[in-house]
Amino acid sequence: MTTLFTGISRILHIELNQKPWKRGLELGHFPVSSNAWLLVKDDRIESFGLMDEGLPTDYDHKVDADGGMLLPTWVDSHTHLVYAGTREDEFAQRLYGLSYAEIAAKGGGILNSAKRLRKSSEEELYELAAQRLEEVMKMGTGAIEIKSGYGLSTESEIKMLRVARRLGENYPLPVKTTFLGAHAFPEKFKDDHQGYIQQITDEMLPEIATQNLADYVDVFCEEGYFSVDEMLQILEAAKKYNIKSKLHLNQFNSLNSIEKAISHDALSVDHLEVMTEYDLAVLGESDTIATLLPGCSLFLEIPYAPARDLISKNAIVSLATDYNPGSAPSGNMNLMVSLACIKMKMTPEEAISAATLNGAAAIELSQQIGSIEKGKKANFIITRPLSSPSFIPYNFGHNLISKVFINGIEVA
Ligand SMILES: [Zn+2]
Repeated sequence: MTTLFTGISRILHIELNQKPWKRGLELGHFPVSSNAWLLVKDDRIESFGLMDEGLPTDYDHKVDADGGMLLPTWVDSHTHLVYAGTREDEFAQRLYGLSYAEIAAKGGGILNSAKRLRKSSEEELYELAAQRLEEVMKMGTGAIEIKSGYGLSTESEIKMLRVARRLGENYPLPVKTTFLGAHAFPEKFKDDHQGYIQQITDEMLPEIATQNLADYVDVFCEEGYFSVDEMLQILEAAKKYNIKSKLHLNQFNSLNSIEKAISHDALSVDHLEVMTEYDLAVLGESDTIATLLPGCSLFLEIPYAPARDLISKNAIVSLATDYNPGSAPSGNMNLMVSLACIKMKMTPEEAISAATLNGAAAIELSQQIGSIEKGKKANFIITRPLSSPSFIPYNFGHNLISKVFINGIEVA
């Protein structure tokens, strides 16, 4: 089946030559076609061109974009979408003056989510996560990564990953899954870190690998959580199963973990709110993707990652939501693009590329999605009529999306 889209005020091509990512200042540049058409054949982009140079005549359906812009769907490469309970009570406690540590001491935090998750059935978890997924698809997300990490036991971690895999099977968008058993130490391993690491390396990883439940492995490397040495033990174990890593690093402290992550071929290092000159330099010279999560900085009122420094050091910068119940309860990629501009001083074009092509690279899908290119999947957003790409971050908090297409089919 072929569908012709006409009346597109601008196609934001993002890139044209099968580029896997954009690094440094390349991020801010992409070709744009004004007053254009685009032809979709089955689930792929067949061709595109300018309205005044003539339209294809052979097609089955026609869709009028009504002067809206067409850009690739957002790629959210870092989420914790599968969870059991929301934590708005902790949010309110914070507003009454309690610190994150005090809330955790009262039974809040990651362990609170873990407790609720263990009590939930796989079916309940699936239903809740499916609702969230449908909601973010309507906001333009066309590919997503989902982590485990609230199970913290073999059985519950597997339950979370099974839910994430099922979402990928039942919804049209690509879903990549990440095993984050090393999110926090469960209560009973509080004073026996090695005991839990061993459970991860000798029990969870082999089982998860056998059932092919995880595309990646993740570790929350931070003071009070997992040390750099503990992270390396997990990365070594994952290597045996050919599972690459995407890592939570440098959120509150720089522990010199970035260099180690790069030497272990980490696919991405995520958060990066606290960076030394050395961290910036080694990341800028590497092919490891720097994934920034401005929604978490907004919600926790912590510093924003130094996007400009990363770009000037030639790093591959991507943007994601970190959608989770504790520190970033929003899956709205449009808002992340706004925050990237307003709070991290990225240009609108940089933020759009970081939230599409480089996001796709951060889940190894940039050969299929992340830009408008011939042969790529027909995953794109059509906006309301907008004056320029800058309007997307400028009109923050508003819904600018008119239609969302995944595999050439309208999903919202
Ligand atoms: Zn996270």
